[in-house]
Amino acid sequence: MADTMKAVVYKGHGEVALEDRPMPVIKDERDAIVRVTLSSICSSDLHIKHGTVPRAKEDTILGHEFVREVVEVGSAVKKFKKGDRVSVSVETFCGTCFFCRNGFVNNCVEGGWELGCRIDGCQAEYVRVPIADMGMTLIPDYVKDEDAVFNGDILATGYWAASIGELKPADTVVVIGLCPLMRVKLYSPSKVILIDVNDYRLNLAKENGLADIIINSSKEDPLEAIMKETNGRGADRVFEVAGLKSTFQLAWQAARPNAIVVVVALYAEPQEIPLQLMYGKNLPFKTGGVDGNSNYAEEIMKLIQTKQIDTSCLITHKAPLNDVMRGYEVFENKIDNCVKWVITPYER
Ligand SMILES: [Zn+2]
Ligand SMILES: [Zn+2]
Repeated sequence: MADTMKAVVYKGHGEVALEDRPMPVIKDERDAIVRVTLSSICSSDLHIKHGTVPRAKEDTILGHEFVREVVEVGSAVKKFKKGDRVSVSVETFCGTCFFCRNGFVNNCVEGGWELGCRIDGCQAEYVRVPIADMGMTLIPDYVKDEDAVFNGDILATGYWAASIGELKPADTVVVIGLCPLMRVKLYSPSKVILIDVNDYRLNLAKENGLADIIINSSKEDPLEAIMKETNGRGADRVFEVAGLKSTFQLAWQAARPNAIVVVVALYAEPQEIPLQLMYGKNLPFKTGGVDGNSNYAEEIMKLIQTKQIDTSCLITHKAPLNDVMRGYEVFENKIDNCVKWVITPYER
């Protein structure tokens, strides 16, 4: 194997670059080295690029959503061997600390969101996965890379968000910002109302059964439209994933009294909770980062395997690592209706 590989590095000050970096090596007996065959650019990468993720470290290889081939395992790795096909969780977690034992792996004392943030991530040819037995999930033979690539991050986030939203059958659900909240549908809501600013994304969601009602908030007043759809009452559950000042305000305004508001967005600045206007709405807010624990990852893989979750519609762009800088530009500016840019291996 060569000594160096190509990788996307966060340089600080709004800059990322495709560079030559040393090949990763096993540093701890619980590590695995994985050859990346498919990875993605995530909006969190853009947040790091623009300096709005305080925990991110400069000079780190970006990327935290990927699959696939184990090429080496440390001596303490029990569940995986060379040649296994795996998806990898965005989070690094030990499985034994207080938080892990309670399922809150995002706050693991040994990790949390590490890959592509504080330690080298997957927008590269190879990646070192710490505590591999916890963070990796086997991909069944007949599940394609394209179907498994989002397991560890956006699907885990959607799955987790839906679970903390305590959805009940026949709920009316508002989702602000397109995201793979596919699990929402598994709770049999009466309707899912999706708010976004882009007709292409809205139609994509509707055509693929992710939303029943679509509202373009750049063309009509979303709050008025939501109230019309909910007999003036507001939604039973609201999921805010867009991460803007306006969408945060819309989230609590769109909720009916005693609804649940789930906020899974990353914001660039503090948000205001106007309690004087919210008096009487009795709203619990649930916020935070995904607890993408091993059980979730395995459940999601089963749902993918049985076609109850299908994310293939989100892959609008696919190109080798050679073109990744163009990928950042296209994804960030949503050029050519880009929803997800996925990265195939570097071509020499
Ligand atoms: Zn992400
Ligand atoms: Zn832990």
